[in-house]
Amino acid sequence: MRLRSLLLTGLLLGSGTGLNTPVQAQTFLPTVAPATGPLATGSLSAPVLSSRAAWPPGSIDPLLGPRSRLTRDWIGLRSLPSTTPILVMAGHADSQNIAGSGTAGEAVALGGAAPMYPGISDELYWNMVIAQAVVAVGRQRGLDIRYYRPPFRTIIDEDEPGTNWSVGRDHAAAGGYAMEIHFDAYGPSGVGSGLIPPVHRPFSRVDEALAQEFGSYPMAFRQVLGGPRRGIGLLEIGQLQGNLEASLRDPRTRQQTVMTIANRVVTALELGLGRNPGAATVPSRTAQGRLR
Ligand SMILES: [Zn+2]
Repeated sequence: MRLRSLLLTGLLLGSGTGLNTPVQAQTFLPTVAPATGPLATGSLSAPVLSSRAAWPPGSIDPLLGPRSRLTRDWIGLRSLPSTTPILVMAGHADSQNIAGSGTAGEAVALGGAAPMYPGISDELYWNMVIAQAVVAVGRQRGLDIRYYRPPFRTIIDEDEPGTNWSVGRDHAAAGGYAMEIHFDAYGPSGVGSGLIPPVHRPFSRVDEALAQEFGSYPMAFRQVLGGPRRGIGLLEIGQLQGNLEASLRDPRTRQQTVMTIANRVVTALELGLGRNPGAATVPSRTAQGRLR
């Protein structure tokens, strides 16, 4: 069975609480004081402070764990049309068994647990689950949102047609919003949850909303990674460790954890697009058909 259908039938649509049920909007907007310091809107010369700024670096999210401890140096002010097409991809979907395959996660690497699925990193497994849940919830809520899966799990040349980054680059160049779902490394080598923003154009209000919900990385993180350089935002959900990983792995809490995260992503997307969060809860015929 293909992994995608396995995930959808076994996890997301199982237990009688599938995605055909409208999902209530859930959000955890920050209540803390705005961060201070120089922020940029896409060029280093235009510092602007947000009225609703990001979490302070390094704060703890009850579900996701530590947020990025790195200081944010940008802010997204560019408006996007409320109907902007959104492309969601699973990070590392085309880089398995080579460098850059994603974190194995604390449970596998340190705890001796079996991988979630043979042949792929646990990060990719959860990236796929979350990405597909985000698309399903987003469709229920009326967003123009779709999932992309590359044709092979290992593509050496990241510029090959069909890679996440090639497809995401084209989507962003055409004016859409492209993002990859990621989980960060466990332990001290991880940074925490947050958006690594796309840098192809001035930062947008969607970037801003995701950063306010999840935290943020600096605009030039690691000299600008390949995805952001091509216009693809990398959303680090959290470090694959501790309570977050345990909540995902435990079958009793898995579905709620996945749906809570997906709801938070979709709500941030809605806010960033200037939409009323959770307004559309009737799934379209198209969305229903694709989910089955
Ligand atoms: Zn990753």
